[in-house]
Amino acid sequence: MTKPPMLTAQQALDHLLSHAKPVDESENLAMQAALGRVLAENINSLVDVPPLDNTSMDGYALRTADTQTPGSILKIAQRIPAGSMGRQLEPGTAARIFTGAPVPAGADAVVMQEDCMIPEGSADQVQVNIAPTVGQWIRKQGEDLTAGKTALRAGSFLRPQELGVAASAGLTHLNVKRRVRVAAFFTGDELSLPGESLKPGGIYNSNRDTLLACLKSLGCDATDFGIVPDNLNATRETLRKASKDHDLIITSGGVSVGEEDHIKPAVTAEGRLDLWQIAIKPGKPLAFGAVRKSEGAKEGGTEAWFIGLPGNPVSSFVTFLLFVRPFILKLQGREEDRVQAYPMRADFDWLKADRRNEFLRVKINAQGGLDLFPNQSSGVLTSASWGDGLVDCPPGQAFKAGDIVKYIPFNALLS
Ligand code: AMP
Ligand code: MG
Repeated sequence: MTKPPMLTAQQALDHLLSHAKPVDESENLAMQAALGRVLAENINSLVDVPPLDNTSMDGYALRTADTQTPGSILKIAQRIPAGSMGRQLEPGTAARIFTGAPVPAGADAVVMQEDCMIPEGSADQVQVNIAPTVGQWIRKQGEDLTAGKTALRAGSFLRPQELGVAASAGLTHLNVKRRVRVAAFFTGDELSLPGESLKPGGIYNSNRDTLLACLKSLGCDATDFGIVPDNLNATRETLRKASKDHDLIITSGGVSVGEEDHIKPAVTAEGRLDLWQIAIKPGKPLAFGAVRKSEGAKEGGTEAWFIGLPGNPVSSFVTFLLFVRPFILKLQGREEDRVQAYPMRADFDWLKADRRNEFLRVKINAQGGLDLFPNQSSGVLTSASWGDGLVDCPPGQAFKAGDIVKYIPFNALLS
Protein backbone atom coordinates (compact mmCIF):
# COMPACT_ATOMS: atom_id res chain seq x y z
CA MET A 1 0.00 0.00 0.00
CA THR A 2 1.37 3.48 -0.88
CA LYS A 3 1.78 5.80 2.06
CA PRO A 4 -0.38 8.93 1.95
CA PRO A 5 1.60 12.18 1.48
CA MET A 6 2.86 13.96 4.60
CA LEU A 7 1.62 17.56 4.73
CA THR A 8 2.75 20.43 6.92
CA ALA A 9 0.08 21.96 9.17
CA GLN A 10 0.11 25.03 6.93
CA GLN A 11 -0.38 23.00 3.74
CA ALA A 12 -3.25 21.07 5.29
CA LEU A 13 -4.91 24.28 6.48
CA ASP A 14 -4.45 26.04 3.13
CA HIS A 15 -5.95 23.06 1.37
CA LEU A 16 -8.96 22.90 3.71
CA LEU A 17 -9.62 26.63 3.47
CA SER A 18 -9.38 26.62 -0.32
CA HIS A 19 -12.53 24.46 -0.33
CA ALA A 20 -14.68 26.13 2.32
CA LYS A 21 -17.26 28.68 1.12
CA PRO A 22 -19.43 30.79 3.43
CA VAL A 23 -23.04 29.66 3.79
CA ASP A 24 -25.38 31.86 1.74
CA GLU A 25 -28.39 32.10 4.00
CA SER A 26 -28.76 34.85 6.58
CA GLU A 27 -31.39 35.87 9.11
CA ASN A 28 -32.42 39.13 10.74
CA LEU A 29 -32.01 39.05 14.51
CA ALA A 30 -32.68 41.48 17.32
CA MET A 31 -29.43 42.84 18.72
CA GLN A 32 -29.02 40.61 21.78
CA ALA A 33 -29.85 37.47 19.80
CA ALA A 34 -26.99 38.29 17.43
CA LEU A 35 -24.25 37.78 20.05
CA GLY A 36 -21.66 35.29 18.77
CA ARG A 37 -23.00 35.39 15.20
CA VAL A 38 -21.35 36.70 12.03
CA LEU A 39 -22.52 39.86 10.29
CA ALA A 40 -23.86 39.06 6.81
CA GLU A 41 -23.54 42.59 5.36
CA ASN A 42 -21.76 45.87 6.03
CA ILE A 43 -23.76 48.14 8.29
CA ASN A 44 -23.69 51.91 7.95
CA SER A 45 -24.21 54.27 10.83
CA LEU A 46 -27.54 56.10 10.85
CA VAL A 47 -26.02 58.99 12.82
CA ASP A 48 -22.80 60.77 13.69
CA VAL A 49 -21.36 59.49 16.96
CA PRO A 50 -21.05 61.63 18.91
CA PRO A 51 -23.87 63.61 17.32
CA LEU A 52 -22.28 67.00 18.20
CA ASP A 53 -19.03 68.30 19.65
CA ASN A 54 -19.43 67.64 23.37
CA THR A 55 -17.46 67.86 26.58
CA SER A 56 -15.70 64.89 28.15
CA MET A 57 -15.39 66.71 31.51
CA ASP A 58 -17.51 68.61 33.98
CA GLY A 59 -16.22 72.20 33.80
CA TYR A 60 -16.49 75.37 31.74
CA ALA A 61 -16.76 75.83 27.99
CA LEU A 62 -15.00 79.00 26.87
CA ARG A 63 -12.98 80.76 24.19
CA THR A 64 -9.22 80.24 24.46
CA ALA A 65 -8.79 83.81 23.18
CA ASP A 66 -10.32 85.00 26.51
CA THR A 67 -8.01 82.91 28.69
CA GLN A 68 -4.49 83.46 27.32
CA THR A 69 -3.12 84.02 30.83
CA PRO A 70 -3.85 81.84 33.86
CA GLY A 71 -6.21 83.56 36.31
CA SER A 72 -8.53 85.12 33.71
CA ILE A 73 -12.02 85.82 35.02
CA LEU A 74 -15.11 85.13 32.89
CA LYS A 75 -18.82 85.65 33.44
CA ILE A 76 -20.84 82.41 33.68
CA ALA A 77 -23.55 83.20 31.17
CA GLN A 78 -25.28 79.83 30.74
CA ARG A 79 -25.55 76.30 32.16
CA ILE A 80 -25.59 73.23 29.88
CA PRO A 81 -26.35 69.80 31.39
CA ALA A 82 -26.11 66.63 29.24
CA GLY A 83 -29.13 66.32 26.95
CA SER A 84 -29.73 70.02 26.46
CA MET A 85 -28.45 72.57 23.92
CA GLY A 86 -26.68 75.77 24.92
CA ARG A 87 -26.69 79.01 22.95
CA GLN A 88 -23.96 81.03 21.21
CA LEU A 89 -21.12 81.76 23.65
CA GLU A 90 -20.44 85.50 23.77
CA PRO A 91 -16.84 86.77 24.11
CA GLY A 92 -15.75 87.16 27.72
CA THR A 93 -18.23 84.54 28.98
CA ALA A 94 -18.08 80.88 29.97
CA ALA A 95 -20.76 78.16 30.04
CA ARG A 96 -21.00 75.86 33.04
CA ILE A 97 -21.04 72.48 31.30
CA PHE A 98 -21.40 68.79 32.29
CA THR A 99 -19.97 65.63 30.73
CA GLY A 100 -21.72 64.69 27.50
CA ALA A 101 -23.33 68.11 26.98
CA PRO A 102 -22.87 69.74 23.54
CA VAL A 103 -20.20 72.42 23.45
CA PRO A 104 -21.93 75.71 22.56
CA ALA A 105 -21.12 77.49 19.30
CA GLY A 106 -18.32 79.98 19.83
CA ALA A 107 -16.51 77.93 22.51
CA ASP A 108 -13.28 76.24 21.45
CA ALA A 109 -12.15 74.53 24.68
CA VAL A 110 -13.39 73.11 27.95
CA VAL A 111 -11.54 73.64 31.22
CA MET A 112 -12.26 71.01 33.86
CA GLN A 113 -13.73 72.31 37.09
CA GLU A 114 -10.62 71.26 39.04
CA ASP A 115 -8.67 73.93 37.11
CA CYS A 116 -11.19 76.67 37.95
CA MET A 117 -12.28 78.63 41.02
CA ILE A 118 -15.35 80.66 41.84
CA PRO A 119 -14.05 84.02 43.19
CA GLU A 120 -15.28 84.91 46.75
CA GLY A 121 -18.68 86.53 46.68
CA SER A 122 -19.22 86.36 42.90
CA ALA A 123 -21.10 83.17 42.12
CA ASP A 124 -21.72 84.22 38.50
CA GLN A 125 -18.00 84.40 37.68
CA VAL A 126 -15.29 81.81 37.17
CA GLN A 127 -11.53 82.21 37.51
CA VAL A 128 -9.71 79.97 35.02
CA ASN A 129 -6.38 78.95 36.54
CA ILE A 130 -4.76 77.60 33.37
CA ALA A 131 -4.33 78.75 29.77
CA PRO A 132 -6.27 76.05 27.89
CA THR A 133 -5.35 74.79 24.42
CA VAL A 134 -7.82 74.81 21.53
CA GLY A 135 -10.02 71.69 21.52
CA GLN A 136 -9.13 70.48 24.99
CA TRP A 137 -11.68 68.10 26.59
CA ILE A 138 -13.88 68.34 23.47
CA ARG A 139 -15.00 65.10 21.81
CA LYS A 140 -15.51 65.91 18.15
CA GLN A 141 -18.77 65.25 16.33
CA GLY A 142 -18.44 61.97 14.36
CA GLU A 143 -15.05 61.07 15.85
CA ASP A 144 -16.37 57.55 16.57
CA LEU A 145 -18.83 56.93 13.70
CA THR A 146 -19.94 59.01 10.72
CA ALA A 147 -23.51 58.94 9.41
CA GLY A 148 -23.70 56.89 6.19
CA LYS A 149 -20.23 55.37 6.66
CA THR A 150 -19.45 51.72 7.48
CA ALA A 151 -19.75 51.03 11.20
CA LEU A 152 -19.13 47.27 11.02
CA ARG A 153 -18.01 45.12 8.14
CA ALA A 154 -19.62 41.97 6.75
CA GLY A 155 -17.85 38.99 8.28
CA SER A 156 -17.39 40.65 11.69
CA PHE A 157 -17.79 38.27 14.58
CA LEU A 158 -20.29 39.86 16.95
CA ARG A 159 -18.89 40.23 20.46
CA PRO A 160 -20.49 42.49 23.09
CA GLN A 161 -18.51 45.48 21.82
CA GLU A 162 -19.72 45.01 18.22
CA LEU A 163 -23.33 44.94 19.46
CA GLY A 164 -22.60 48.20 21.29
CA VAL A 165 -21.16 49.78 18.14
CA ALA A 166 -24.24 48.70 16.15
CA ALA A 167 -26.52 50.16 18.84
CA SER A 168 -24.62 53.45 18.89
CA ALA A 169 -25.06 53.52 15.10
CA GLY A 170 -28.82 53.40 15.75
CA LEU A 171 -29.60 49.82 14.70
CA THR A 172 -32.05 47.51 16.43
CA HIS A 173 -31.60 44.37 14.30
CA LEU A 174 -28.72 42.79 12.39
CA ASN A 175 -28.53 40.53 9.34
CA VAL A 176 -26.35 37.62 10.37
CA LYS A 177 -25.28 34.40 8.68
CA ARG A 178 -27.32 31.37 9.68
CA ARG A 179 -25.62 28.96 12.03
CA VAL A 180 -23.40 26.33 10.46
CA ARG A 181 -24.89 22.85 10.93
CA VAL A 182 -22.45 20.20 11.98
CA ALA A 183 -23.10 16.49 12.55
CA ALA A 184 -20.71 14.53 14.73
CA PHE A 185 -20.22 10.85 15.43
CA PHE A 186 -17.64 8.84 17.26
CA THR A 187 -16.24 5.54 16.05
CA GLY A 188 -14.96 2.74 18.21
CA ASP A 189 -16.26 -0.60 19.51
CA GLU A 190 -14.51 0.16 22.80
CA LEU A 191 -16.61 3.26 23.53
CA SER A 192 -19.38 3.61 26.09
CA LEU A 193 -21.25 6.69 27.17
CA PRO A 194 -20.66 7.90 30.71
CA GLY A 195 -23.53 6.47 32.76
CA GLU A 196 -23.34 3.14 30.94
CA SER A 197 -21.25 0.28 32.23
CA LEU A 198 -17.86 -0.09 30.59
CA LYS A 199 -17.28 -3.17 28.45
CA PRO A 200 -14.16 -5.20 29.20
CA GLY A 201 -11.36 -3.24 27.54
CA GLY A 202 -13.73 -0.32 27.07
CA ILE A 203 -13.35 3.41 27.72
CA TYR A 204 -15.75 6.29 28.03
CA ASN A 205 -16.42 8.41 24.98
CA SER A 206 -14.79 11.69 25.96
CA ASN A 207 -14.46 13.07 22.44
CA ARG A 208 -18.21 13.46 22.25
CA ASP A 209 -18.29 16.02 25.03
CA THR A 210 -15.10 17.76 24.00
CA LEU A 211 -16.04 18.09 20.35
CA LEU A 212 -19.74 18.92 20.80
CA ALA A 213 -18.71 21.63 23.26
CA CYS A 214 -16.11 22.94 20.79
CA LEU A 215 -18.88 23.20 18.18
CA LYS A 216 -21.13 24.96 20.64
CA SER A 217 -18.36 27.40 21.57
CA LEU A 218 -18.05 28.29 17.90
CA GLY A 219 -21.79 28.92 17.62
CA CYS A 220 -22.62 25.90 15.44
CA ASP A 221 -25.82 23.90 15.49
CA ALA A 222 -24.40 20.52 16.45
CA THR A 223 -26.17 17.17 16.07
CA ASP A 224 -24.85 14.12 17.87
CA PHE A 225 -25.12 10.88 15.86
CA GLY A 226 -23.66 8.93 18.73
CA ILE A 227 -21.19 6.09 18.93
CA VAL A 228 -20.81 4.11 15.72
CA PRO A 229 -19.33 0.62 15.86
CA ASP A 230 -16.23 -0.29 13.88
CA ASN A 231 -17.94 -1.69 10.81
CA LEU A 232 -18.36 -0.45 7.29
CA ASN A 233 -22.13 -0.62 6.95
CA ALA A 234 -22.88 1.12 10.21
CA THR A 235 -20.42 3.85 9.28
CA ARG A 236 -21.91 4.28 5.80
CA GLU A 237 -25.43 4.40 7.11
CA THR A 238 -24.58 7.05 9.69
CA LEU A 239 -22.82 9.11 7.02
CA ARG A 240 -25.95 9.01 4.85
CA LYS A 241 -28.16 10.16 7.72
CA ALA A 242 -25.70 12.80 8.90
CA SER A 243 -25.18 14.31 5.45
CA LYS A 244 -28.85 15.12 5.04
CA ASP A 245 -29.29 18.41 6.90
CA HIS A 246 -25.72 19.34 7.68
CA ASP A 247 -22.98 21.43 6.13
CA LEU A 248 -20.19 19.42 7.72
CA ILE A 249 -19.74 16.01 9.31
CA ILE A 250 -16.97 15.46 11.82
CA THR A 251 -15.95 12.16 13.34
CA SER A 252 -13.35 10.88 15.74
CA GLY A 253 -11.37 7.67 15.43
CA GLY A 254 -10.99 5.15 12.64
CA VAL A 255 -8.87 7.33 10.35
CA SER A 256 -5.75 5.23 10.41
CA VAL A 257 -5.50 2.51 7.79
CA GLY A 258 -5.85 -0.50 10.07
CA GLU A 259 -8.42 -3.26 9.52
CA GLU A 260 -10.70 -1.69 12.10
CA ASP A 261 -10.55 1.77 10.53
CA HIS A 262 -13.62 2.14 8.37
CA ILE A 263 -13.79 5.86 7.78
CA LYS A 264 -11.81 5.84 4.54
CA PRO A 265 -13.78 3.10 2.75
CA ALA A 266 -17.10 4.36 4.11
CA VAL A 267 -16.64 7.99 3.06
CA THR A 268 -15.16 6.91 -0.27
CA ALA A 269 -18.29 4.81 -0.93
CA GLU A 270 -20.64 7.66 0.06
CA GLY A 271 -18.66 10.49 -1.53
CA ARG A 272 -14.97 11.19 -1.77
CA LEU A 273 -12.07 11.36 0.62
CA ASP A 274 -8.43 12.25 0.97
CA LEU A 275 -6.60 10.72 3.86
CA TRP A 276 -3.77 12.96 4.98
CA GLN A 277 -0.80 12.43 7.19
CA ILE A 278 -0.01 15.81 8.70
CA ALA A 279 3.42 16.30 10.22
CA ILE A 280 2.04 17.38 13.59
CA LYS A 281 2.02 15.95 17.09
CA PRO A 282 -0.44 15.21 18.53
CA GLY A 283 -2.50 14.42 15.49
CA LYS A 284 -1.09 13.08 12.25
CA PRO A 285 -3.93 11.30 10.46
CA LEU A 286 -6.74 13.53 9.26
CA ALA A 287 -9.37 12.72 6.67
CA PHE A 288 -10.96 15.38 4.46
CA GLY A 289 -13.68 14.83 1.94
CA ALA A 290 -17.37 15.14 1.23
CA VAL A 291 -20.47 12.97 1.50
CA ARG A 292 -23.25 13.10 -1.14
CA LYS A 293 -26.55 14.32 0.20
CA SER A 294 -29.53 12.14 -0.33
CA GLU A 295 -32.32 13.57 -2.47
CA GLY A 296 -34.69 15.94 -0.74
CA ALA A 297 -31.94 17.40 1.39
CA LYS A 298 -32.49 20.98 2.47
CA GLU A 299 -30.34 23.95 1.49
CA GLY A 300 -26.56 23.87 1.77
CA GLY A 301 -25.44 22.27 -1.49
CA THR A 302 -25.39 18.72 -2.76
CA GLU A 303 -22.67 17.49 -0.43
CA ALA A 304 -21.78 17.76 3.22
CA TRP A 305 -18.11 18.35 3.95
CA PHE A 306 -16.38 15.63 5.92
CA ILE A 307 -13.48 15.93 8.35
CA GLY A 308 -12.34 12.80 10.20
CA LEU A 309 -10.24 13.43 13.28
CA PRO A 310 -7.98 10.94 15.05
CA GLY A 311 -9.41 9.13 18.06
CA ASN A 312 -6.95 9.97 20.80
CA PRO A 313 -8.61 12.63 22.95
CA VAL A 314 -5.82 15.23 22.80
CA SER A 315 -5.28 14.59 19.10
CA SER A 316 -8.92 15.08 18.24
CA PHE A 317 -9.13 18.23 20.38
CA VAL A 318 -5.97 19.79 18.95
CA THR A 319 -6.75 18.87 15.34
CA PHE A 320 -10.25 20.30 15.83
CA LEU A 321 -8.77 23.59 17.01
CA LEU A 322 -6.12 23.76 14.30
CA PHE A 323 -8.08 22.54 11.29
CA VAL A 324 -11.82 22.18 11.90
CA ARG A 325 -12.20 25.54 13.61
CA PRO A 326 -10.76 27.60 10.73
CA PHE A 327 -12.82 25.55 8.27
CA ILE A 328 -15.99 26.30 10.26
CA LEU A 329 -15.06 29.99 10.55
CA LYS A 330 -14.84 30.13 6.79
CA LEU A 331 -18.25 28.42 6.41
CA GLN A 332 -19.61 30.96 8.87
CA GLY A 333 -18.31 33.77 6.68
CA ARG A 334 -16.05 35.11 9.41
CA GLU A 335 -13.49 37.57 8.20
CA GLU A 336 -10.56 36.22 10.15
CA ASP A 337 -9.92 32.52 9.87
CA ARG A 338 -6.35 32.24 11.14
CA VAL A 339 -5.38 32.47 14.73
CA GLN A 340 -2.61 34.64 16.12
CA ALA A 341 0.31 33.09 17.99
CA TYR A 342 2.02 35.29 20.59
CA PRO A 343 5.73 35.35 21.48
CA MET A 344 6.11 34.12 25.07
CA ARG A 345 9.02 32.95 27.21
CA ALA A 346 9.30 29.20 27.82
CA ASP A 347 10.29 28.43 31.41
CA PHE A 348 11.20 24.86 30.51
CA ASP A 349 13.70 23.04 28.31
CA TRP A 350 12.47 21.20 25.23
CA LEU A 351 15.57 19.39 24.15
CA LYS A 352 14.30 16.45 22.11
CA ALA A 353 12.99 18.13 18.99
CA ASP A 354 10.60 16.03 16.92
CA ARG A 355 10.54 15.85 13.13
CA ARG A 356 6.91 16.84 13.40
CA ASN A 357 5.39 20.22 14.32
CA GLU A 358 4.51 19.74 17.99
CA PHE A 359 1.73 21.45 19.91
CA LEU A 360 2.63 21.35 23.60
CA ARG A 361 0.12 21.88 26.37
CA VAL A 362 1.39 24.72 28.57
CA LYS A 363 0.21 27.12 31.23
CA ILE A 364 1.14 30.75 31.91
CA ASN A 365 2.90 31.12 35.28
CA ALA A 366 2.96 34.06 37.68
CA GLN A 367 6.33 35.19 36.26
CA GLY A 368 4.79 35.68 32.81
CA GLY A 369 6.47 32.59 31.35
CA LEU A 370 5.13 29.22 30.23
CA ASP A 371 5.21 25.95 32.18
CA LEU A 372 4.92 22.56 30.48
CA PHE A 373 2.52 19.80 31.47
CA PRO A 374 4.82 16.86 32.27
CA ASN A 375 2.87 14.22 30.32
CA GLN A 376 2.40 15.22 26.69
CA SER A 377 0.87 11.91 25.58
CA SER A 378 -1.97 12.24 23.08
CA GLY A 379 -4.20 10.19 25.38
CA VAL A 380 -3.76 12.44 28.43
CA LEU A 381 -6.60 14.93 28.16
CA THR A 382 -5.89 16.40 31.61
CA SER A 383 -2.90 18.12 29.92
CA ALA A 384 -5.36 20.27 27.97
CA SER A 385 -7.55 20.89 30.99
CA TRP A 386 -4.52 21.92 33.10
CA GLY A 387 -3.19 24.09 30.26
CA ASP A 388 -4.03 27.61 29.08
CA GLY A 389 -2.90 26.96 25.55
CA LEU A 390 -0.44 25.45 23.11
CA VAL A 391 3.15 26.09 22.18
CA ASP A 392 3.51 25.76 18.42
CA CYS A 393 6.92 24.15 18.18
CA PRO A 394 8.25 24.01 14.60
CA PRO A 395 9.62 20.69 13.28
CA GLY A 396 13.12 19.87 14.43
CA GLN A 397 13.31 22.81 16.81
CA ALA A 398 14.59 22.29 20.33
CA PHE A 399 14.66 25.18 22.80
CA LYS A 400 15.83 26.02 26.28
CA ALA A 401 14.23 27.75 29.25
CA GLY A 402 14.32 31.50 28.57
CA ASP A 403 13.81 31.14 24.81
CA ILE A 404 10.86 32.85 23.13
CA VAL A 405 8.29 30.48 21.65
CA LYS A 406 4.99 30.76 19.77
CA TYR A 407 2.04 30.54 22.16
CA ILE A 408 -1.61 30.09 21.16
CA PRO A 409 -4.16 30.55 23.98
CA PHE A 410 -7.05 28.06 24.09
CA ASN A 411 -9.41 31.00 24.64
CA ALA A 412 -8.58 32.36 21.21
CA LEU A 413 -9.35 28.96 19.70
CA LEU A 414 -12.69 28.41 21.37
CA SER A 415 -14.73 31.28 19.96
P1 AMP B 1 -8.42 5.33 16.68
O1 AMP B 1 -8.08 6.66 16.05
O2 AMP B 1 -9.79 4.88 16.38
O3 AMP B 1 -7.37 4.31 16.31
O4 AMP B 1 -8.30 5.55 18.25
C1 AMP B 1 -7.10 5.93 18.84
C2 AMP B 1 -7.20 5.91 20.35
O5 AMP B 1 -8.16 6.85 20.79
C3 AMP B 1 -7.65 4.58 20.90
O6 AMP B 1 -6.94 4.34 22.09
C4 AMP B 1 -9.11 4.79 21.20
O7 AMP B 1 -9.60 3.95 22.18
C5 AMP B 1 -9.15 6.23 21.60
N1 AMP B 1 -10.45 6.83 21.30
C6 AMP B 1 -11.08 6.75 20.11
N2 AMP B 1 -12.26 7.38 20.17
C7 AMP B 1 -12.37 7.88 21.41
C8 AMP B 1 -13.38 8.64 22.08
N3 AMP B 1 -14.49 9.01 21.45
N4 AMP B 1 -13.18 8.97 23.38
C9 AMP B 1 -12.04 8.60 24.01
N5 AMP B 1 -11.05 7.91 23.42
C10 AMP B 1 -11.22 7.53 22.14
MG1 MG C 1 -10.85 3.20 16.65
